[in-house]
Amino acid sequence: MKILIAGFQHETNTFAPSRADYESFVRGEGFPAMVRNEDVFQLQTVNIPIGGFIQEMQAEVHHLIPVIWAAASPSAHVTRSAYERIAGEIVDAVRATRVDAIYLDLHGAMVAEHVDDGEGELLARIRNIVGSDIPVVASLDLHANVTEQMLRNASGLVAYRTYPHVDMADTGRAAAHLLRRLMASETPVTMVYRRIPFLIPVNAMCTLLEPARGVYEHLVARENKDVLSISFTPGFPAADFPECGPMVWCYASEPAHADAAVAAIYDEIVQRESEWAVEFLDPDEAVREAQRIASRASRPVVIADTQDNPHGGADSNTTGMLRALVRNKAQGAALGLMWDPEVARMAHEAGKGNDITVALGGKSGVAGDFPFEATFHVEHLSDGKCILDGPMMHGMHVDVGPTVCLRIDDVRVAVSSVKAPMNDRNLFRMAGIQPEKMKILVNKSSVHFRADFGPIAERILVAKSPGPMAADPADLPWKRLSASTRVRPVASLNSDRATSIISIQTND
Ligand SMILES: [Zn+2]
Repeated sequence: MKILIAGFQHETNTFAPSRADYESFVRGEGFPAMVRNEDVFQLQTVNIPIGGFIQEMQAEVHHLIPVIWAAASPSAHVTRSAYERIAGEIVDAVRATRVDAIYLDLHGAMVAEHVDDGEGELLARIRNIVGSDIPVVASLDLHANVTEQMLRNASGLVAYRTYPHVDMADTGRAAAHLLRRLMASETPVTMVYRRIPFLIPVNAMCTLLEPARGVYEHLVARENKDVLSISFTPGFPAADFPECGPMVWCYASEPAHADAAVAAIYDEIVQRESEWAVEFLDPDEAVREAQRIASRASRPVVIADTQDNPHGGADSNTTGMLRALVRNKAQGAALGLMWDPEVARMAHEAGKGNDITVALGGKSGVAGDFPFEATFHVEHLSDGKCILDGPMMHGMHVDVGPTVCLRIDDVRVAVSSVKAPMNDRNLFRMAGIQPEKMKILVNKSSVHFRADFGPIAERILVAKSPGPMAADPADLPWKRLSASTRVRPVASLNSDRATSIISIQTND
């Protein structure tokens, strides 16, 4: 079998400050850098979907025809020129090559400057060329905002089932399995989908915790000889277009099987609506709670600075948590990564052991965020290169450019020249900070850090400090979301729903 393979990944936060241009995809920005043709095979040992797909299919000596693999850090829209150039390369290759099947490694939440549904548009262009007979399967991120256009134009879509995403390569393998089953099926396969009527905050999607853990366990248990594949994507609740939101879909041998599987998972998600709501701490509450716990603990308390998560489209330089650490006189605290190339350069020029007075970070433009002006001690200098070691991106080479550990009182800040989420302990170590020895760690990440930091953490807290990646989707200025999608799960009896019931009683 000849299978064309390609990857094009971006998670778009339409509310974020900076866009992803072609150069962002060339660099990869925390993902592997852009590769073409035979070089795509270099990715087969990386824990990403195309790696799993290649391994699975090469074991059967299929002929794989790689085109391109490109990803960029989550951000605002993909520029029109970047989208057209990369999507255009894939579409041109589809046009130029006769193949038996196509596999795409996609994210599922890409919005370009001129296209709301980046993946749906790409799949539609490909479907237009190959017609209905050639199977086109794609793997998706758990944060995909799956659209009708994507479901209509793909023969099969399979999404991650873990967050932190430790099953990326496994999902590529699952796409290979689904492709095989689709091609082996003698009768048409039925696809059924159902959209969940509320947005889910990113912090509630963690599959190490309920309700996500239980939902995915039940989802896995539903697959059998009749139910080929079932997926649930909680979505990426920061893309302002009508189809933003969670989705459940299934491929089955008969409509009844697909209906039953989708209904069961949909009902569980909706019946547990209140469990998807999240309670957030403000920066001072989070630091004081961490100090209280840390005073009796031998392991660090980790605080997620979730609204500045660069993997959610933030720029990783807000200062609210740093300010709270210093204000509350936190001891043995470290924060990272703070993306500020200018300050990193100044610190390298000043040299290790010297003091510098700088205005650090605070460039998000978000109300309540501003630079932190202070004198810092330059404690450690680094070239910013390291190999990640955690369960998620094990073995990946990262280069965040000249990096420095700045110290103020007993608070250390790892400042980098390139942004990357703090999902791996080696990023702290690279900056000269031993995470296990600290009492409080503040990670600019939402959930992924739990894979590597969970095992060393006494407790994990989630803080809501002013930043571009709204942890509570209800805080965002939505303009185009579907009227049938609520902006947050209804939390409890004290919520909007209860209020409306009370008002009805009052009218009576
Ligand atoms: Zn994701």
